[in-house]
Amino acid sequence: MPTLSERLVDVASSAFLHTAEVTVAEPCAPGFVRVELRADAFRGADWIPGAKVQIRTQRGTLKLRTYTPIRWDGDTTELIACTHADGPAAEWFRGVAAGATCDVFGPRKSIDLRGLDRVVFVGDESSIALAVALRTVTSRVDHVFEASEPSAVSAMLVSRGLDRSSVVVPKTADRQSLLAHVRAAAPDESFDLVVTGNAKTVHEIRRDSRNWPRRPAEIKGKAYWAEGRTGLD
Ligand SMILES: Cc1cc2nc3c(=O)[nH]c(=O)nc-3n(C[C@H](O)[C@H](O)[C@H](O)COP(=O)(O)OP(=O)(O)OC[C@H]3O[C@@H](n4cnc5c(N)ncnc54)[C@H](O)[C@@H]3O)c2cc1C
Repeated sequence: MPTLSERLVDVASSAFLHTAEVTVAEPCAPGFVRVELRADAFRGADWIPGAKVQIRTQRGTLKLRTYTPIRWDGDTTELIACTHADGPAAEWFRGVAAGATCDVFGPRKSIDLRGLDRVVFVGDESSIALAVALRTVTSRVDHVFEASEPSAVSAMLVSRGLDRSSVVVPKTADRQSLLAHVRAAAPDESFDLVVTGNAKTVHEIRRDSRNWPRRPAEIKGKAYWAEGRTGLD
């Protein structure tokens, strides 16, 4: 039975949150879940590749967590979530099944991938959905993924057909191997850099890119999560 304050939160948030039904929920690699969400309110939404949605998995709270739709067709959208975090969204994704519901805010602007052509893409487990969304814009992408569990990330990339353009680098505290792979990925022609994932990694890559011999024309960067912080964004 919800408390009065939980009911008040639900009434207030119903102005911007739309309830969506999970129509498909399937594990696609260890630690990754693909979910399709359906809601009448999704029709006519203005989705652009790289946009975000914020989802609330627990009613009576305002704990919103951010995810990247990989497509948006009429009343249906699709998410890929990694379940490594120690929070309500990861917990929900670990146990979700068709028929469940959640509340969704968005789509809203985040990284705008439109117009990109030649790209070096750096990310981690939380960035795979963005890489899939980017493929709707361009296939001229070199991906470098920082991974806590490289075999799981590799399996996920195979399942999305991204493995041939990707290098998976085991996560290390000094990030030296990751930085070396990213530098090596920079092509001779003009390119843009897209970097998301762990806040510290995004910061390190941005800083390192200032000294690359071949520098990106534009950097689109965003921290997707940070150690010890919840619900970044
Ligand atoms: C614009 C944007 C788009 C995003 N798109 C996606 C997406 O498509 N798919 C996806 O999986 N994630 C995505 N994320 C990241 C996701 O929002 C976070 O991982 C989120 O914090 C998870 O919520 P939670 O409730 O499980 O954990 P929280 O309650 O937020 O955090 C609990 C603990 O887990 C840690 N933590 C959070 N995220 C991670 C992680 N990824 N790995 C390891 N530890 C973590 C935190 O540091 C904290 O200590 C996106 C984030 C942003 C800002």
